[in-house]
Amino acid sequence: MGLAKPITAKDADEEDKATLEGLVADVTAAARFTRQHAIAAIYHAGSGHPGGAMSSADILAALFGAELNLWPDIVNDAHRDRFVLSKGHGAPALYAVAAHYGFCSPRAALALRKLGSPYQGHPHVLDLPWVETSTGSLGQGFSVALGMAMGLKLQKSQARVYTLLGDGELQEGEVWEAAMCAAHHNLDNLCAIIDYNKLQSDNRNDAIMRLEPLAAKWRAFDWAVAEVDGHDISELLRTFRRAAATAGRPSVIIAHTVKGKGVPYMENIPAWHGSVKLTREQAEEALAALGAQRDEIREFLDDRNG
Ligand SMILES: [Mg+2]
Repeated sequence: MGLAKPITAKDADEEDKATLEGLVADVTAAARFTRQHAIAAIYHAGSGHPGGAMSSADILAALFGAELNLWPDIVNDAHRDRFVLSKGHGAPALYAVAAHYGFCSPRAALALRKLGSPYQGHPHVLDLPWVETSTGSLGQGFSVALGMAMGLKLQKSQARVYTLLGDGELQEGEVWEAAMCAAHHNLDNLCAIIDYNKLQSDNRNDAIMRLEPLAAKWRAFDWAVAEVDGHDISELLRTFRRAAATAGRPSVIIAHTVKGKGVPYMENIPAWHGSVKLTREQAEEALAALGAQRDEIREFLDDRNG
């Protein structure tokens, strides 16, 4: 099965403006659906992690909608790009974006955390064919992504590996061992993205164990570092392309985000990290804030499969 020829950063810079605008509009719509679906799934589950799902939705939509050489019909292709959700508790957003892009049924993916459902609170590699590895034990997904990148290099594959980490996750020592290893092996096929929403379970990062100076830390580990607004789709797309064109070093994109983004009563409130139960009123308010129409809200929340 053929994969698209990778686009270089030069191509991206010269890309027809209208094409880029069209892509941004598509990804923006995907991100909106991702947030709405994740809220609905968490409502039906009676628990889940909405804060980080909201903060990472634009990053995930940009990856699945425009960056990854990964589509539903090539999930077993040896040369597909890999995506690892190292912050596994962001699963509701992963399932939602995957549903939007045809990897699974949107209705089925509303069965988050239900007994017997493949859509558990953290992604499971044996449950879903497009999940590359089970994650949720923080720090470990990044190391698995590192191993995938090393393996692809050994196979002389052009495929790339992307992994999304939470900022609280960076307090795990394993992350820095993997960072050191990736630079040592010149893994320019590895791109880590940090969902830098400044909050983690219970509190602010800097009240628990501070991360700053974060960019300097990654530079010291010899990674190519970019800092972006993690909700600016256009900036995300261009930065992914630049990372793909970086030779000789792994890339990290520090994406500044807002926890709970798009749902005003959740934004920047640590209590909405998880695991929280959403009332019907809260779910309706969140969906309305995320741009869902009245009939769409009913469809999401009254679905019996959820
Ligand atoms: Mg966080």
